[in-house]
Amino acid sequence: MLASDLDGAQARARQAETLAEAVGDQLMRARAVALVARVLHLRNEMADALTQALRAITLCEEVDDLASAVQAHEVAARIFLDIGDMAAALEEGLAATRAAEASGDLAASVSALRAMTNIYAALRQWDTALEFGDNYCKAAQLLGNPADECVALATLAYVYAAMSSDAIDRGDTEQAQAWGEQSVSLSRTAMLTSRKSGNRLTENTSLGNLAEMLSEIGRPEEGLHLLDSWTVDPALDTGKMIAHHREARGAILIGLGRFREAAELMALGVAEAPTRQYEISASRSLAMALEELGDLRGALDAHKRLFVLVTEQISEQAQRAASVAAVRLETVQAQAQAAMLRMQASDLQRTNDDLNRHSEDLRRQALEDPLTGLPNRRRLDQLLASDLRSCSLILLDVDHFKWVNDAHTHLVGDAVLRELGNILRANCRDTDTPTRFGGEEFALVMPGIPLDGALATAERVRAAVQNHGWQALSPGLKVTASFGVALGTEADTSIELLALADHRLLSAKALGRNRVVGPRENG
Ligand code: GH3
Ligand code: MG
Ligand code: MG
Repeated sequence: MLASDLDGAQARARQAETLAEAVGDQLMRARAVALVARVLHLRNEMADALTQALRAITLCEEVDDLASAVQAHEVAARIFLDIGDMAAALEEGLAATRAAEASGDLAASVSALRAMTNIYAALRQWDTALEFGDNYCKAAQLLGNPADECVALATLAYVYAAMSSDAIDRGDTEQAQAWGEQSVSLSRTAMLTSRKSGNRLTENTSLGNLAEMLSEIGRPEEGLHLLDSWTVDPALDTGKMIAHHREARGAILIGLGRFREAAELMALGVAEAPTRQYEISASRSLAMALEELGDLRGALDAHKRLFVLVTEQISEQAQRAASVAAVRLETVQAQAQAAMLRMQASDLQRTNDDLNRHSEDLRRQALEDPLTGLPNRRRLDQLLASDLRSCSLILLDVDHFKWVNDAHTHLVGDAVLRELGNILRANCRDTDTPTRFGGEEFALVMPGIPLDGALATAERVRAAVQNHGWQALSPGLKVTASFGVALGTEADTSIELLALADHRLLSAKALGRNRVVGPRENG
């Protein structure tokens, strides 16, 4: 891609992000940021590219777009590869692989496999690189996109070429030859596939690689012939394509001992290098060719130039690595801070829950009688205050309770009170509320019940108390109670209602106990 194309692509991606943010389309936004990251990486702006890639990963995960997250992980992996941080690259490659698997998206798998192939090739773990490379080619073929297929084939060819040169360094020429031939075969397939699909960029790359590799395995004439078959078209070909082509020819010419031609070509290569990397390789070839020609002055100049370029490159790489490391550190710090905030929030939540539970306990305690577990007098007052007119009230007082305590002990007396609570609960409706009024007195609040119903309930409770198996608590124990019933409609205040019920309770006592007294005398 040309620099101006990259400018346009970056501007469009940024614009897409802004628009997506404005309309609240999070998916679109995540994809736009992933694209910004890719463009920044192509522009060699590593630190910014990494910042955007990491942002894209978070955004993509938020909207569950795992396929786009894979692209962002791949960009991050490439950046780490470029600065030589293998561990970080592998981490990103593995994350890409996991996300690709989870997404079930074939294009995402192709990206993840490409990342893993490049990472293992850089690690020089050839067996693993080949395994990933094979799968990468298969997946790319399945995807059916010729451009991806060509890049995959070229990548695998590159792995074999690197293996071949590794074998040469070890002095294993036989192995080097075998792998070189593999590389040649793959590059040729990549070149033909590119040609068939009309992809001039990948065709040019594969052709250059193929020519150089042919030269490496002892077929330089064939390589040169191949390069001659390519006509450079400045209107179609980028500076990098032209430089790559020139570089391959220069290497072959040197191999063939045609130093004069090589020197002329490489001088042009230095003058027209589109990037420093190409300038470095052209300077190196130029120095070599001039030395062979006996032009020591020229060779020294080329070496000096090479020295400056390499020094610049190293310092720039170091700076780039430092700024990428800074971005990484910031990200790690931000993640740690977010984790801490989450932890603090959950601590706070727990404290809050504790407090809520505690105050709920206190609230319950304030409204509950501990002995019987029934609502207490305070709750009774609340109930009567909330809707006096619709409530009926039954007041109950145990008969001769002093005698229960005296003859059977206070412990039995307490048990009797608890049992009375149960009897009341069992003999009223869900909507009724039995309460412990105080001492051995209970009150039953019944909303929306007619007089007959209230009197019947009182009578039912009275009989239940009388007939309860009290002997189980203490031999010879007998318990009865007296009842006063009043209706909310008879009173203007809760105090009046309680007084009325209490008055009728006293009447029941006076009439001989173990009976119910209501508005009209009963029992
Ligand atoms: P009456 O039939 O006239 O109501 O006679 P009574 O003996 O029940 O008389 P009174 O209401 O005056 O006596 C209430 C007794 O209840 C006094 C007190 O010792 C006892 N009492 C009050 N609260 C408790 C308690 O929580 N546990 C026990 N065991 N006894 C209690
Ligand atoms: Mg009493
Ligand atoms: Mg009593």
